[in-house]
Amino acid sequence: MRPPLLAIVLPCYNESAIITSTVERLQQLLNDYVAQSLIAAESYLLFVDDGSRDNTLELLRQHKSAQVKTLKLSANCGHQSALLAGMHFVTGKCDCMISMDADLQDDINCTKAMLEAYLRGAQLVYGVRQSRGNDTWFKRKTALWFYGLMHKLGVNLVYNHADFRLLSNQVLHEFGRYREVNLFLRGIFPRMGFTNATVYYDRQDRTAGETKYPFRKMLNLAVNGITSFSNVPLKIITYVGFLVFIGSLLASFWVIFVILTGRNAPGWASITLPIYFLGGVQLLALGILGEYISRIYLETKQRPVYHIEEVIE
Ligand code: UDP
Ligand code: MG
Repeated sequence: MRPPLLAIVLPCYNESAIITSTVERLQQLLNDYVAQSLIAAESYLLFVDDGSRDNTLELLRQHKSAQVKTLKLSANCGHQSALLAGMHFVTGKCDCMISMDADLQDDINCTKAMLEAYLRGAQLVYGVRQSRGNDTWFKRKTALWFYGLMHKLGVNLVYNHADFRLLSNQVLHEFGRYREVNLFLRGIFPRMGFTNATVYYDRQDRTAGETKYPFRKMLNLAVNGITSFSNVPLKIITYVGFLVFIGSLLASFWVIFVILTGRNAPGWASITLPIYFLGGVQLLALGILGEYISRIYLETKQRPVYHIEEVIE
């Protein structure tokens, strides 16, 4: 059997400190696999430059070859959209693809186990972190809470799996039918089914450059993940509203009782507390509704989430 044509897709944003070593290490990896007849000789790397402001793109240009291709996006549109651009681009142009971060924090040698799983028939292979390297305490904790929360909300996620995965071309084709603007890839693949496999690895530290996922982007990803996969928060609003209603009903009985027994003293607490409480609950409810409505708004516009300015191949 002919070895599969592999495409490795790497979104990169301001990665000039590390990109050259990434290209070299991965080229070496591809050459090794080709020599072992694990993959076809035409296999390639596809870097997606997500509107970097440093010289990442120039460095990638210097490596241009049949083995190293680059998509230049017209502006920074975020990791998930950059990855999406790469996935759309390689659909139909490979037998399988592997996505990974350009900082190579995911163990690249693990790709061998992924390919072997693919050759045994898996269409989808998840790379799962066994350890999280020196991720900060904060990052580890928030990630843990997020997985726990998503699980409670009924969203099926692969625990400790980020965006290091292998997809067969068939899965890529099927994935192309998802037309969502609010993308949360980690939630989509588990629900697609297909024969899948899991490969474990130890997450390394970043060797150069710094994280491009500040707290703001992490929070954004989390909110997106929740609102695009679960309507439980909407239900919670309804329950809270119902509880508050029961509470006020009981309170009214109490007020009537106090009036009837003639013990009504001008009360400050009984007036102001409910005002604050109800005000808070209403704002929370409006906020959650707003989040969903903004998603609907974005989805109805069906705007493209990325623009390709140049294909360097
Ligand atoms: N990235 C991107 N666009 C962005 C932010 C990040 O393409 O707006 C890329 C980044 O270059 C890297 C990957 O997404 O290849 C993951 O980012 P990072 O390593 O900073 O995240 P962390 O590993 O700290 O979660
Ligand atoms: Mg990283």
